Amino acid sequence: MSWEKREILLIAKTYPERSQKYGNTVCTAGIMEDTNEWVRVYPINLNVYLRKKLKKFVRFKAEIRKNKSEMIKRKESYKIREKSIKITDDSLVDPKVKGVWEERTKILEKSLSESMEFLKNQFEIKRMSLGIIKPHQKSIKFLIEKPVDNVEIDVIKEVQLNLFGEQVRKVDKIEHAFSYRYKCNIENCKGHKMICIDWELLESFRKWRKTYKTPQKLEFALINRYNDWMIKERDLYLVVGTIWRYKTWIIIGLFYPPKKGQKTQKKLSSFFKK
Ligand SMILES: [Zn+2]
Repeated sequence: MSWEKREILLIAKTYPERSQKYGNTVCTAGIMEDTNEWVRVYPINLNVYLRKKLKKFVRFKAEIRKNKSEMIKRKESYKIREKSIKITDDSLVDPKVKGVWEERTKILEKSLSESMEFLKNQFEIKRMSLGIIKPHQKSIKFLIEKPVDNVEIDVIKEVQLNLFGEQVRKVDKIEHAFSYRYKCNIENCKGHKMICIDWELLESFRKWRKTYKTPQKLEFALINRYNDWMIKERDLYLVVGTIWRYKTWIIIGLFYPPKKGQKTQKKLSSFFKK
């Protein structure tokens, strides 16, 4: 397998994990738009991630190569030459820019799978291990698996410097205690419950532990954003993938454009007024 230069649109990134071999790493999922294929690039070192400003929905070019040892297990897995990473376009990064959510949705709708059942089946047939689904919106519920003050978090205070003079912070390790329950938009879906390790969610938990002084306030804040706001005010899509070595599917990213229905409703009512 040789290295090839490809352009990737970054869709999801998981909360950084500590790795003995690679330091702090981030698992990144994206789409190669020229062929509309999913790609998982791993590992990318956390410091490279921050230095290169690899934000969600940035487009970047890099030299990647199929990960031989993983190919039989997950077909979208690639290794990446960190030095080759170059940002090519950041026009979809800022969610406040007009039309950005529409453009992002248009791209992701092309990769949308109808159900988790479909994805699990594709995994069995051809080792497809990444995808995006849009659950039945009324069925989704954000779950905090245990009282927030019991969620284990291993906070590291020591700071080292790397060759670039940057701080190498070991990431706080957070127990996987957040999940979503939902049903797919098909008949006969019995429902799913999946752990969520989206970076944004776990970073909220990590930061808000300091902001909100009581467990009740922290829980309220998390539910307010990741349940009430994301489900009632937005359209929630789940970027999903399998965990290394296992067949277990988890949520690796949340995609939450403004609800389409709200605009349509306005249009409809103005239509009826005429
Ligand atoms: Zn289902």
